[in-house]
Formats: sequence, C-alpha cells, structure tokens
Amino acid sequence: MVDRMGLFAPRPDWFDEAACKGMDVNIFFPEPAHMGGTDPLASRAKSVCARCPVANECLEFSLTPNPLHERFGVWGGLGEKARRVEARQRRRRRALGLDRVPA
Ligand code: SF4
Repeated sequence: MVDRMGLFAPRPDWFDEAACKGMDVNIFFPEPAHMGGTDPLASRAKSVCARCPVANECLEFSLTPNPLHERFGVWGGLGEKARRVEARQRRRRRALGLDRVPA
C-alpha cells in the first residue's frame, strides 16, 4: 500500500505527523463523482483531515505552485472545488495587495 506522500521525493517533513500516514491513498482520491461535500467517500477523507495536526501545512502544500502541484483529491480537509475557490481568492487578494502584512 502506498500512502499519499509515497510518490513525493523527498517527502515534506510535516508528513511524519500526518493523520493519513500509512493509509490507503485511494481514500483521499475518490472518483470525481464522490467529491461532493456529503458523499461518504469524500467525507471519510475529510474526517481524517479534521483530526490531522498538519492540516494547514497540507493545504498550503497543495496550493503552492510547484511541479508537483496537486489539484486532485482531498488535501488539508478541502476537496478539489474548495481548493480551487481558495486559490482563486488568494490570487485576488494578492492582486489587490490585501495579503501584505503592514510594516
Ligand atoms: S490534512 Fe488530511 S490529507 Fe493532509 S496530511 Fe492531514 S490527513 Fe493527510
């Protein structure tokens, strides 16, 4: 069985703390028809994420542009659509300069 980070080399350090470590990767990549918020398969993944101590790191990993940018599956407790919305909102905030920390 391959866990979800089995394909990433090197694995992110935070993954050692992940609640999904060692779990079947398929739980976190349900078929698109099962990605809805109340679908049992997606809900199962999201319930694991809800108790994960590195959910923030996981979500940031999935949203950070890189060659391995992951647009499929559940990451940080959010499904594909919710992460697209989050990414779009971040782009808008950046474009408007709203994500800057005051000096
Ligand atoms: S937030 Fe979910 S998918 Fe991400 S590491 Fe934690 S349990 Fe795994």
